[in-house]
Amino acid sequence: MKIEKILEYQKKDYEIIKLERQLENNEDKKIYQNMISVVKDAQNKSNALDNEANYLIQDYNKLEKTYNENLKSCGVVLNAKIDKVSENDLSNLTNVASDLINNMSILEKKLMYLAERVNAILSEFEATKKRYNVAKQKYSAHKTAYDKKQSEIMPEIERKKQDIKKLEDGIDPVYLAKYKQRRADKMYPVLVPLTEKSCGGCRMELPSASLQKLKENGFLECEHCRRIIYFDGK
Ligand SMILES: [Zn+2]
Repeated sequence: MKIEKILEYQKKDYEIIKLERQLENNEDKKIYQNMISVVKDAQNKSNALDNEANYLIQDYNKLEKTYNENLKSCGVVLNAKIDKVSENDLSNLTNVASDLINNMSILEKKLMYLAERVNAILSEFEATKKRYNVAKQKYSAHKTAYDKKQSEIMPEIERKKQDIKKLEDGIDPVYLAKYKQRRADKMYPVLVPLTEKSCGGCRMELPSASLQKLKENGFLECEHCRRIIYFDGK
């Protein structure tokens, strides 16, 4: 196999890699992909807030009911005709009234606490909704920008792929397969020259037996970095 063919293949493939990297590292893509998780987080947060608010409202309603019942009992006690009750009953009524007043004040505190919690949840909900809307807008804007870029680059990549396919005929299928496999592992460059007595990729010095083999075959797989070292007789 001629070294020039596969080197030309690699050189042209690098143009494709550069285009692919442009898409991979595209800022718009990074942003819109981040926004997907922001949107999902906001949805989860708002569901959790919704649940919590429902529980709080249930608690609030129960407390309110108890409060109103107590309020009614207070009225009964306070409206009792004091001049018609015995001293004993009066003392009982006083105790009941004082218990009720105590209960009422505890209930009132609980109700106020719950009302505060509900308000806090509502404002948290508003903030979450805002975050959701901002993220969604950002997602659309950056997704559109990325899609536009992609629609420009993809046909170019396809064209170049067709071009280098024509070079494949002149390349040993075994090496072509090795090349493609390493390419899929994101290794670049796959083919490296022999540099002095070392691999041109990882700089590992080759043992003399390997060096000999490389000079005979023209190619050798580096045991250290798995790149294909070539020897062009220079
Ligand atoms: Zn190496």
